[in-house]
Amino acid sequence: MTQRDKNPFSFSDTNKRYHTAAYHLKRTFGGKIARIPLDGGFSCPNKDGTCGVGGCIFCAGGSASLTARGEIEEQYRRGRAAADAKWQARGYIPYLQANTSTYGDPADLRNLYRRCTRLPGAVALAIGTRADCLSDGVLEVLAEIAEEIPLLIELGMQTMHDDTLAAIRRGYDHEAFLSGYARLDTLRRSSGVRIGLHILNGLPGEDEERMLATAKEAARLLPDEVKIHTLCVLRGTEMEEIHRRGEYGPMEMGDAVALTARQLTYLPPETVIGRIGADAPRDQLIAPTWVRNKRAVENALDRYLYENDLWQGKDWE
Ligand code: SF4
Repeated sequence: MTQRDKNPFSFSDTNKRYHTAAYHLKRTFGGKIARIPLDGGFSCPNKDGTCGVGGCIFCAGGSASLTARGEIEEQYRRGRAAADAKWQARGYIPYLQANTSTYGDPADLRNLYRRCTRLPGAVALAIGTRADCLSDGVLEVLAEIAEEIPLLIELGMQTMHDDTLAAIRRGYDHEAFLSGYARLDTLRRSSGVRIGLHILNGLPGEDEERMLATAKEAARLLPDEVKIHTLCVLRGTEMEEIHRRGEYGPMEMGDAVALTARQLTYLPPETVIGRIGADAPRDQLIAPTWVRNKRAVENALDRYLYENDLWQGKDWE
C-alpha cells in the first residue's frame, strides 16, 4: 500500500492529507488554474499615515513574488506567459496581491476590478486586503463584482494575539479584524464571495501554543481558504534590523512543518489550504533560507502527516 492508498483524507486524490488549492481548483474549474499576482498600485493605511507610517515590521511591500509594475493588462500578460512556460493552465486567477487592494475610492476600485475580470482567460478574481478596509462602499463594489465572476477576498489575520499585533505594528487589533470579517461574512452569505485568511507562524514572541490557538481561531471563523505562512526576514524591513541585532531567530524547517501539521488538524476539511511555507522573493530573502525549496517543505509536511497519522480536520470539532 502506498501513502496515497492509505490516505484517509476525503478532499484529496493523491497522498496529500490536506485540501490543496490545486485539488479545489481542478474540481471547480476542471483543470489546472494559475494565479497571476498583480500590483493594482495601492498603498496601505499602515504606510500612508492613516493608522501608521512604517507598515508592519516584516512588510516589504505586501507583494511576495511581485516585482512587476505597469498597467494591469501588461502585468497579467507577462505573468501569464511565465505561468504558461511552467504549466498548461486551463484558466487564470488575477490576484491583486500588493499592499491593500481595497484601499481606494469605490468607483476607482470598480473600474480596476472590472478590468481584471475582463482579462483573457480569467476564471475568478482574488483580492488581498485588510479587515479594516471594507467600507460599505467597498462591499457594494465587491458584491457587484461577485455577480460577474467568482471572487475570493483574502484577509491578513496573522495572529489572534493583540500584544503581538501591537509589536508588529499592524495598526488594528483582533477585535477590529473580527468586525471586518463579520462584514465580509454577511456578504459571503448574500453573494457567494469566498473568504481567505492568512495566518503567520514564527512572529516574534509567539510560541507553539499561541500559534496553535491562532489556527483554532481561524477554524472557528469557517474561512473558505487559509494560507499558513512562515515569517520571513526580508531586506529593507524592520525585521532585518531586529534579526541583525540577534533579537530574532527564524523558525527551523522541522519545527515549522510539525506546527503546520498540528494546525491543519484543527482546520475544517472543507477549508482550502492556499499555501504553506512562504513565497519570499529570492533577492530580498535573508532568513529562513529553507523556504526557498517549496517542494522540500511540502514533501516534509506530507511525510510528517503520514508518519504521525494526521490529516486536515482530524481534531476539528
Ligand atoms: S497591512 Fe499588509 S501591506 Fe500594509 S503594512 Fe502590513 S503587511 Fe504591509
